[in-house]
Amino acid sequence: MLHSSSFAPPRTHASRKPATAVLASALAVSFWAGHPMTAEAAEVSVERETVVAPPVQTYTPPAASIATAAVSAVREDLVVTWKSPVQWPVAESSPIGDGFGYRGNVCAGCSTNHLGADLFPGYGEPAFAVADGVVRTVANHGSGWGQHVILEHVIDGRAITTVYAHLVPGGVSVVPGQTVEVGQIIAQTGNSGTSTAPHLHFEVLVGGSHVDPLTWLRRNILPPPA
Ligand SMILES: [Zn+2]
Repeated sequence: MLHSSSFAPPRTHASRKPATAVLASALAVSFWAGHPMTAEAAEVSVERETVVAPPVQTYTPPAASIATAAVSAVREDLVVTWKSPVQWPVAESSPIGDGFGYRGNVCAGCSTNHLGADLFPGYGEPAFAVADGVVRTVANHGSGWGQHVILEHVIDGRAITTVYAHLVPGGVSVVPGQTVEVGQIIAQTGNSGTSTAPHLHFEVLVGGSHVDPLTWLRRNILPPPA
């Protein structure tokens, strides 16, 4: 942080009565000593002299402290970053495949009532926690979801569950019970389980009920402040 006070001259230095003012006071006293005057007039003249501005002082900070201040300012820029409390589970530019709801019989064993959304960031690309939360499950039952992770969150006082499926086995970087932060990489997207192409099958449950995950994301991802 850049403290302006670090560049200010020492206070005792600035408030010290300048030598010229002291001299002027002495001259005024010796002048008025031989002349009749009221106590009030003497007081005013002394007062005026004592408010004479001190000579302008310039303070040049040592080169070392300039360098330190510059580094601190840069660090502050890096630290002050805003992030939405909810983010996309993969790179936002990823193509979107099947959405939520009924779909045709896309493959043997594929669900016709699709309870999630399919996102295609590419094989091995990161999957992110969509919000702060806790890892409930890390498992791989072979078929179905294959390697998957389930997170639990509390958002606006509501229990939210998010499911990340078809991950790369061995590409999961979290363990059950672990606390995760929004945007944290939890796994690599893959093609495990009942999957016809590398993708992330992503589900959102609000209070235990499935909702359209894309609608939920778009509603909860906040734009950066203006
Ligand atoms: Zn799916």
